[in-house]
Amino acid sequence: MSNENKTIYDFDFSLICEYFAQVERQGPGSPETTRQALDFIDNLTEDSRIADIGCGTGGQTITLAQYVPGKITALDLFPDFIQIFNRNAECLGLQSRMKGIVGSMTDPLPFEKESLDLLWSEGAIYNIGFERGLNEWNQYLKKGGYITVSEASWFTDERPDEINEFWMSSYPEIDTIPNKVAQMQQAGYVPVATFVIPETCWTEHFFAPCHKAQDDFLKKYPGNETVESLIYNQRREEVLYNKYKAFYGYAFYIGKKI
Ligand code: SAH
Repeated sequence: MSNENKTIYDFDFSLICEYFAQVERQGPGSPETTRQALDFIDNLTEDSRIADIGCGTGGQTITLAQYVPGKITALDLFPDFIQIFNRNAECLGLQSRMKGIVGSMTDPLPFEKESLDLLWSEGAIYNIGFERGLNEWNQYLKKGGYITVSEASWFTDERPDEINEFWMSSYPEIDTIPNKVAQMQQAGYVPVATFVIPETCWTEHFFAPCHKAQDDFLKKYPGNETVESLIYNQRREEVLYNKYKAFYGYAFYIGKKI
């Protein structure tokens, strides 16, 4: 499609995709924490069916495919990410183990009821909301199947206004770990484990690779307002994280369907 035929909305989205496609991960995390979370899951065999929702370009899916048996179907809203995902899978010879498809997590998922052994979602469930995601996705899991998600979480009951306001305007469903664990139990899962991902998942694995991407992007699109505001927001997120990381971060939540 040429740029003249695109709406501003399409053009903005393709710029945002282009920016995030430059980096290996689109959210905080690391291969080590993905493996740590996988260590709690004990039911997987070569016949297992696994879903990875909001997979991005597939940083964590590659770790899943390399570390556990079974077939992974990964879903993301953005076709550009899925294209990169499937290209990477092929380059690594993992195309028979992991397949990316385009779809929205807010629609019914393209899986049979009670067909999945594991449903994974790193740094993405906020797009549907933690509670809604846990409740709606329960139907696709077999009894005894696992759900594993990472999610923005408060570490304390109270926090400075500046960071509170930032999260209330971007994702008001952020909550304390005990409250999220209670929501998981209410949604029909045994809360098997929860742990906070280390700071390096933000600093080394997410923010640092973005620095070069930000500089390159500003040079490529000088004066472009979408690019400038995207990068302003990215940089603000990093500044706020460094200032307030004692108060919030990402935690993994692992649950087993009852
Ligand atoms: N799991 C990846 C990406 C996290 S970023 C990682 O940890 O690196 C959040 C992802 O959710 C992005 O790839 C974004 O494209 C995707 N996303 C946003 N809204 C979505 C929706 N409605 N359905 C499916 N994916 C969505």
